[in-house]
Amino acid sequence: NSSLHEFDPDVAAAVDAELERQQTTLEMIASENFAPVSVLEAQGSVLTNKYAEGYPGRRYYGGCEHVDVVEQLAIDRIKALFGAEHANVQPHSGAQANAAAMFALLSPGDTILGLNLAHGGHLTHGMKINFSGKLYNVAAYHVDEKTSRVDMDEVERLAKEHRPKLIVAGWSAYPRQLDFAAFRRIADEVGAYLMVDMAHFAGLVAAGLHPNPVPHAHVVTTTTHKTLGGPRGGVILTTADLAKKINSAVFPGQQGGPLEHVIAAKAVAFKMAATDQFKERQQRTLEGARILAERLTRSDATEAGISVLSGGTEVHLVLVDLRNSELDGQQAEDRLHEVGITVNRNAIPNDPRPPMVTSGLRIGTPALATRGFQAGDFREVADVIAEALKPSYDAEALKARVTALAEKHPLYPDLKK
Ligand code: PLP
Repeated sequence: NSSLHEFDPDVAAAVDAELERQQTTLEMIASENFAPVSVLEAQGSVLTNKYAEGYPGRRYYGGCEHVDVVEQLAIDRIKALFGAEHANVQPHSGAQANAAAMFALLSPGDTILGLNLAHGGHLTHGMKINFSGKLYNVAAYHVDEKTSRVDMDEVERLAKEHRPKLIVAGWSAYPRQLDFAAFRRIADEVGAYLMVDMAHFAGLVAAGLHPNPVPHAHVVTTTTHKTLGGPRGGVILTTADLAKKINSAVFPGQQGGPLEHVIAAKAVAFKMAATDQFKERQQRTLEGARILAERLTRSDATEAGISVLSGGTEVHLVLVDLRNSELDGQQAEDRLHEVGITVNRNAIPNDPRPPMVTSGLRIGTPALATRGFQAGDFREVADVIAEALKPSYDAEALKARVTALAEKHPLYPDLKK
């Protein structure tokens, strides 16, 4: 019964170092966030010990009376949050949620139509060596070269040509909103299911600041750790008539015992996502991304060869185009790391550079909004980024500005080492 620090100082030291990294740098990876202490507490609870194969009220193990309460709370809360008829909160991750949804709706060899990976899609939307590309026949739509927006005419043309059984609408790197009604109309025309993967923008939807895909889609999948700000995990929302198929695709189709400690943390996060405080945070997330896009399209940024794909953003992230910059994606990521800002390099559509180098950056605002950043703070961090990406820059001075922002908005002040 020793503590982590007593029993395993090596792991404890790495955990402490990670806490310090999160506290002292600025996290701008668009898919990351900071889970509140209440979520960390639920996830670190004794619920990790419990086997609970099955669903609330119908388990294959005894002693499930308390985890039943927790899982039912998570289900009820997320159904209310998004107006869904049915929710499965057991997928261990976003990829598992997508795998289970496809397992429920498709047979191997069926055709799916999703957004190309290099144009902002996710691995699970049909990448060649992912399960989705191996099990299913894949057709992919793209963004338009000039507008950087999904080309709905192409989606319709490809749907009619390939007659997919499933159309996937959703993205990992795209700065605009999708037209879910148009996707559904095309899906209906060709007799396909529509699955929306809202992993990235679910928090914005929960706050009422982004169109809700639930009324349009047969199935909606999400992660719970991005804009939603909960523990790492996945969820599937669906209509009542698909509920049974989805449940049996998750268990026993894809998974064994659910992670009830993570489900407890999901329940806490869903409670939080229904509050005014959460809505206000999502507003600052969007405002921060708009400020970032505006600062990175000013003349001094343009002179340094920096531009913003699609000219702006409607969500929590900005895609920076470095094709005209002297920096490639890797160098730009390293520069920002040097001054204390964490982002990820990202391939842009028709990227001339290889995937490990890229010509783009994906920069997101959810984690800083969670830290309490206001418009003025986002202006300051955007200016630091713009300065750091210029041909000559003063790393020490920029790092000092980053440290000042981090100290102004302390993260996890009560977590002990
Ligand atoms: N779907 C989308 C759109 C994503 O961006 C991601 C993760 O980046 C996933 C699914 C997969 O989530 P996970 O990493 O939890 O498997």
